Amino acid sequence: KTPILEVENLSKHFEVQTGIFKRETKIVKAATDLNFHISEGETLALVGESGCGKTTTTRLLLKLQTPTAGRVLYDGQDINTLNGQGLKTYRSKVQAVFQDPWSSINPRVRIGDFIAEPLIVNEKVDSNEVDRRVNAALDAVGLRRQDARKFPHEFSGGQRQRIAIASAIITRPRLVILDEPVSGLDVSIRSQIINLFKDLQAEYALSYILVAHDLATTRYLADRVAVMYLGQMVEQGNTDDVFDAPAHPYTEALLSAALSADPTEKRTEIPMTGEVPSPLNPPSGCAFHPRCHKCIGDICKTQSPVPFLQDPNRTVSCHLYDQ
Ligand code: SF4
Repeated sequence: KTPILEVENLSKHFEVQTGIFKRETKIVKAATDLNFHISEGETLALVGESGCGKTTTTRLLLKLQTPTAGRVLYDGQDINTLNGQGLKTYRSKVQAVFQDPWSSINPRVRIGDFIAEPLIVNEKVDSNEVDRRVNAALDAVGLRRQDARKFPHEFSGGQRQRIAIASAIITRPRLVILDEPVSGLDVSIRSQIINLFKDLQAEYALSYILVAHDLATTRYLADRVAVMYLGQMVEQGNTDDVFDAPAHPYTEALLSAALSADPTEKRTEIPMTGEVPSPLNPPSGCAFHPRCHKCIGDICKTQSPVPFLQDPNRTVSCHLYDQ
């Protein structure tokens, strides 16, 4: 399949001021040298602990931040060169659904107007077309057409997430970034929303980039997984391959922590010592080495591993594989 989005050597580094008595400028490497792609109709999950760079990555893809280096290609064109109608087209074809439906919905705006907004901002459409598309979006997410007249407070959390999804799909996007899309919802309705994502994907050949802490959701929705640690991508592969046989020691530890709690999985938890280090003072060499249960000594402490292609669908950045 042809990639919709290709990410090449993408980095985002910030300068920050530290210290109270002695001011010092430091560089935070929020994302470094990321390479991945997403094709039509597929779901790629970005996984990793908090602070691993997932949010920065999605902000770069949504063109809410400018990269320090590298580029994001949409249909082969660098999104940072887009402006005018080209940028509007990108914004309508790449949409997002975030964790907290309240934060994205203005309480004083009728939900029909909220849903229509991305369409009106990014496309030239008359009012009849707007009404038609709002109705189609409401139908697609399982809400009633008369709901368009109501205000956000008249809906439950799950319904508000359906409203946010309707607003994301009204422009007929090709790619939707799902940023923790069910973590703010009651457990009882999470599966309904997850299944709605599946149904919409099948119907509209949507691609998703999924950011989720919950590995069960990731496994259910994602075709491929990219594992991030301290702003770097440490492993990428097909979801089943990565979950069944994680190659990178960080992936192994991350999955073991989640899956050893599941009685249907026979895994023992692999201990990961300490917290994710501060991105202000990242460890030398392999950034994971202070917490790694398989660290092989000096090379891990001094040299940063480069991605190793295990097969066309699997890369891993770890000295265990380039030895
Ligand atoms: Fe562990 Fe070394 Fe691999 Fe890093 S490079 S994950 S420290 S074995």
